Amino acid sequence: MDFTLTQEQRAFQQELRGWLDANIPADWRAGKRPPADTPESVEFLRGWQRTLAEARWAGIAWPKEYGGRGAGVMEQIIYQEEMHRADAPPQIGGLGITMFGPILIQMGTEAQKKRYVPNILNGQEIWCQGYSEPNAGSDLASLRTRAVLEGDQWVINGQKIWTSGAHHADMCFLLCRTQENPPDKHMGISAIIVDMHQPGVRTRRIHQMNGGRHFNEMFFENALAPADRVVGEVNKGWQAAVAVLGFERGGSASRHLGLQSAFDQVVDYCRTHNRGGTPLIQDPLVRTRLAAYHGRVHAAQLNFYRNLTHWLREGRPGPEGSLGKLYCSELRKEMMDFGTSLAGADGMLWEDELVEDYLSTFGGTIAAGTSEIQKNTVGERVLGLPKDIRN
Ligand SMILES: Cc1cc2nc3c(=O)[nH]c(=O)nc-3n(C[C@H](O)[C@H](O)[C@H](O)COP(=O)(O)OP(=O)(O)OC[C@H]3O[C@@H](n4cnc5c(N)ncnc54)[C@H](O)[C@@H]3O)c2cc1C
Repeated sequence: MDFTLTQEQRAFQQELRGWLDANIPADWRAGKRPPADTPESVEFLRGWQRTLAEARWAGIAWPKEYGGRGAGVMEQIIYQEEMHRADAPPQIGGLGITMFGPILIQMGTEAQKKRYVPNILNGQEIWCQGYSEPNAGSDLASLRTRAVLEGDQWVINGQKIWTSGAHHADMCFLLCRTQENPPDKHMGISAIIVDMHQPGVRTRRIHQMNGGRHFNEMFFENALAPADRVVGEVNKGWQAAVAVLGFERGGSASRHLGLQSAFDQVVDYCRTHNRGGTPLIQDPLVRTRLAAYHGRVHAAQLNFYRNLTHWLREGRPGPEGSLGKLYCSELRKEMMDFGTSLAGADGMLWEDELVEDYLSTFGGTIAAGTSEIQKNTVGERVLGLPKDIRN
């Protein structure tokens, strides 16, 4: 592992840093931010993504002819680190940037690229991911939402769940069953681009235990999509679905940055809160735990660099990425649990951001593959253990 940046990478870092210094809105910097998930925040974030796109800082990994910079892995990592360092606003069309734009560029028809790709980049159309169903999450190939071709339209019926941001999405990348009783359940699935603004599509927001409402159930009742909205081949959508998940993993490569923030948050809590008149940070037992967490956070960072080395050498992230996802999401939950426990009875109240953030950590161990699924991957592909029994 060589952690030194090349001259070009340093120049890239400086250019981005300078641009962020000049362009992050002053109100955002001052902490005057629109409340999450409101129409004002959606509007604000669309505007921010437009600004990024105009300066070619939105989809940096995209090829230049599509408005990107053709950035390599290292630039993408630097980009994520700088965005994090500057506490920049998130990209509301982030799923489109990391997953759906790239899959259309790779597998879409020319007409699809022309129609959708520019609007993904500038945030004019926000996309959501219609994969999970009430009985098809980890076992995604069991999905039952059906699309039937009638004339030149797909007619879609079924239900999806846990769809992040569907309530403000314009388009959905929807996995549907288009062939009944195929020889293998991974066959007979198609990936269809569905317009969310039509009478046959209904979304219902789900209240989360952390108080947020960023998930939805989605109901499709004779929803329509033109025949040419299939991405890749009809009945071979599993390939597109898996390729999208590959982009998702790449896009969230530097998960250790969030872990560091969680650690800093717990340390900060210990500095600013007392027990028995003494700051928590002075308690030797608390200090011992924090020191151990510090070491484990550092280990996560080194594991990330190990995976990055593999990625740079082999051209794709290795299965160690699953180890990173598992380790970071579980450790984050554990650290926030520790922080909340220090709050004592107050930890049952909503008064501290720490409690809300602790409750959010559970989702991190489920999204993009649950911890058990990551353990299967680590067991089979990193440790070479016998395969899990699958049906
Ligand atoms: C924050 C967040 C955002 C999400 N966003 C989206 C989104 O935008 N679009 C979308 O389509 N979905 C989204 N999801 C859904 C997510 O993909 C699923 O929750 C996830 O795939 C797990 O599926 P499930 O909830 O049906 O649980 P299940 O698959 O039913 O799992 C239930 C339990 O069984 C365990 N289990 C299942 N299979 C195995 C196995 N083979 N071996 C061992 N244990 C197993 C699981 O680990 C889990 O503990 C999101 C979820 C979260 C938490």
